[in-house]
Amino acid sequence: MPGFRVHITGSSIAGAGYAAAAWYAGGLPPQTCVLGGGLCAVAGMLPDLDSGPGVPLRESVAFAAAVVPIMMIHRFQRMGMPAEAIILAGAAIYLAIRFGLSWLLKNHSHHRGMFHSLPAAAIAGQVTFLAFSAEEPLRRYFVSSAVVIGFLTHLVLDEIWSVKMGWFGPKVKKSFGTALKFHGPELWPNLITYALTLILGGLAAGDAAWTERVAHVRQQMEQAARTFPYYPQQPQQWQYRR
Ligand SMILES: [Zn+2]
Repeated sequence: MPGFRVHITGSSIAGAGYAAAAWYAGGLPPQTCVLGGGLCAVAGMLPDLDSGPGVPLRESVAFAAAVVPIMMIHRFQRMGMPAEAIILAGAAIYLAIRFGLSWLLKNHSHHRGMFHSLPAAAIAGQVTFLAFSAEEPLRRYFVSSAVVIGFLTHLVLDEIWSVKMGWFGPKVKKSFGTALKFHGPELWPNLITYALTLILGGLAAGDAAWTERVAHVRQQMEQAARTFPYYPQQPQQWQYRR
């Protein structure tokens, strides 16, 4: 199985390519491209969170505990929460990830279990989608797809490392097929994973519809502001040269 360094290198290359493509072809703002590329690189470590206590687990959980509340600030603000409530909610999320999630991972996950699977990649993307709410839906899809790409890079590398070239063609190790899979051998982890995929999918779809509606209303208000110029004008949007 490829080590931590192979994974982070692979997902960093994928993230850099993804960010560059979004910058040149997609015309996304540079901060969004950098955020997507960075998240893609970090997501390359995610599936190995199931490999038991160690430096990767501790560091990635601590990183997630710090970054997820920051990603959610925008969302909290839009919900109209006062600053104090945002701080409290951020602290609660930090504690839940730092202690709750690491307890779960240490005690209830098997290496190459459902954490190494395609539905798990979907869950990682859905969680990012729900945590990160941007004004434009495109930016949101871009950032959550970055996590899915990083996650998939890890699974693909795991599979590549389980094939070895022998004298009579490729030889397959026992671990082959345990990373890029739809379901595992046990019933309960499969049920829990798919239930989570469905629930998060429903939440994400509802949230996407709501964001779209809000964007529509905002557009109409901007239109009105242009027609009636005594409304406070929006400051000019930054234009990036490319
Ligand atoms: Zn792995």
